[in-house]
Amino acid sequence: MTSPMLQVRGLHAQYGPTRVLHGIDFDVKTGGITTILGANGAGKTTTLRAMCGMVRTQGEVSLAGERIDGKATESIVRMGVAHVPDGRGTFMHLTVEENLRLGAYTRSDKDAVQADFERMYGWFPRLRERRKQQAGTLSGGEQQMLAVSRALMLRPRLLLLDEPSFGLAPRIVAELFEIFGEIRAKEGTSMLLVEQNAALALKLADDAYLLETGKVVISGSAESIRNDEAVRRSYLGY
Ligand code: ATP
Repeated sequence: MTSPMLQVRGLHAQYGPTRVLHGIDFDVKTGGITTILGANGAGKTTTLRAMCGMVRTQGEVSLAGERIDGKATESIVRMGVAHVPDGRGTFMHLTVEENLRLGAYTRSDKDAVQADFERMYGWFPRLRERRKQQAGTLSGGEQQMLAVSRALMLRPRLLLLDEPSFGLAPRIVAELFEIFGEIRAKEGTSMLLVEQNAALALKLADDAYLLETGKVVISGSAESIRNDEAVRRSYLGY
């Protein structure tokens, strides 16, 4: 059996003395999309940060069978994990093009990097129109598109997405999520998606985990979670 793209076992995380994750397990299948749902403060952002060595952890995190827990963020990035943080993390004073170039900083295949600019503008044509503009002048939706594109410039095996819908108009969110589905289908990128918008996330994902105060309380296929009585009542509102 081949290893999943991401396998997490017994993950604990803490900030100083504050324990936030209490031994969680989850997988992202190769080429699959897994979503982690949960209320504010449940530990979703911390889970993503733990994947790329940005918080103190215990437990096992494996990328395609290779342990990455305890490695430096830089090494994890070089192994193909790209993070789109909450708040997007684009460099506001740099242009769209400069932001994209930074996304490829670990790559030495310069010709392919050049071709990937076109690939990104193919996914997000509005970024091509704005390629010489400072990121700070873009709309919220365009900034999120830029943050995702910058992460994709790494040619990641695993894309970590932190609340990509946050603060965006429903029409833009729908567009963005449709593109996530297409990127997975055409490029086979595995994704770990953290979302408060459970309905949206469950439509895109294959598998889902519900986090409450740092523990997984429900897990299964996205379809089974969508039909779970408690999830429907608390997170889907019907
Ligand atoms: P949100 O949707 O509000 O971001 P979340 O599920 O992503 O929620 P986390 O951001 O992972 O939750 O936070 C989990 C817990 O960890 C919260 O109680 C939060 O206050 C705490 N926490 C987060 N970041 C830090 C930090 N840098 N130092 C100390 N505690 C933190």
